[in-house]
Amino acid sequence: MKTNISPVPPGGTIGILGGGQLGRMLALAAARLGFKSHIYSDEADAPAFQVAAAKSFAGYDNRNALEAFVSTCDVITFEFENVPAATVEALARRKPIFPAARALAITQDRLEEKNFVAGLGLKTAPFAAIGKADDAVNAIARTGTPAILKTRRFGYDGKGQAKVTSAAEAAAAFRAFNSAPSILEGFVDFAFEASVIAARGRDGSFAAYDPPENFHADHILRRSSVPSRMTTVQSGEAKEIAKQVADALDYVGVLAVELFVGKNGALLVNEIAPRVHNSGHWTLEACLISQFEQHIRAVAGWPLGDPARHSDAVMENLIGEDARDWQKLAGDGSALHLYGKAEIRVGRKMGHRTWLKKKSDS
Ligand code: AMP
Repeated sequence: MKTNISPVPPGGTIGILGGGQLGRMLALAAARLGFKSHIYSDEADAPAFQVAAAKSFAGYDNRNALEAFVSTCDVITFEFENVPAATVEALARRKPIFPAARALAITQDRLEEKNFVAGLGLKTAPFAAIGKADDAVNAIARTGTPAILKTRRFGYDGKGQAKVTSAAEAAAAFRAFNSAPSILEGFVDFAFEASVIAARGRDGSFAAYDPPENFHADHILRRSSVPSRMTTVQSGEAKEIAKQVADALDYVGVLAVELFVGKNGALLVNEIAPRVHNSGHWTLEACLISQFEQHIRAVAGWPLGDPARHSDAVMENLIGEDARDWQKLAGDGSALHLYGKAEIRVGRKMGHRTWLKKKSDS
């Protein structure tokens, strides 16, 4: 079906499942190309509703609402990976949906994802499944200590994760997560973290942005900067990893591959996000075609844009109280983005800002 469906013409409607800031920035990019966006979210005050031509406020299992939504869309995509697989499959029977259900299914489950990545011959931290508390002993033997226990599903920004230093601690953490199926990962003593944001078109064309270096605090992304400390060879390797992943998934759209850069220079895959990514927000200012427009181009069947970076950039998230000082932020010379979230909450991504500098590398 994928190759013989025609591109969505300007004026067409892009359906987006999820109404957070990523959906909002996707809708803004879609509007620039003359598309309308229809946002579907289960949150009444979803930030993306404010900038979309149409909105559906309903649960992801609401068949009538999904049917009404799908009937208005030319193509469907999503801005978060925890859309129920059954919802995606039901929608896919009615309209093209990109990326396809398989990419979502693999990336929703950390064990499936790690097995998939390892199966491509790519490096990861050592890992082992934990399905019952007794598995902790064998798992620790595989991963060594320290290690991180992560629930297989529904974890993000460090939620559902615990650092452990023994099998007993791993078993206790597993019980604390209500014995949810989990994986244990060896703790990587990395030099720094990076990511690759890349796009694959319906025709298999591929375009990767220069990999940013990422700094986390409390498991939440604080800052991304380009260029990273990667060598040119490592940057090339990182883009090649993203291409291997995207090709193997027959992926359409933008994806992000989060990497640990080892002290020995090795690139280890941490996780894959089947969507636009926080560490790619700098592309809005530092590239001709941002990750958001690139995603819309890919899912609409348009040619991908040039991902070249014309400037160096630093992107900083505004988290929780950071956003309160908007008057000062608006005057500090950065490009300010506020997501239209009414309520400030601890750990909530409220906006971001980006600084550009003259490009330092070739
Ligand atoms: P994740 O939710 O898997 O992306 O993890 C969030 C953050 O926790 C990562 O960006 C790292 O900073 C840290 N982290 C996760 N897994 C590991 C690991 N195996 N070794 C070291 N740090 C990790």
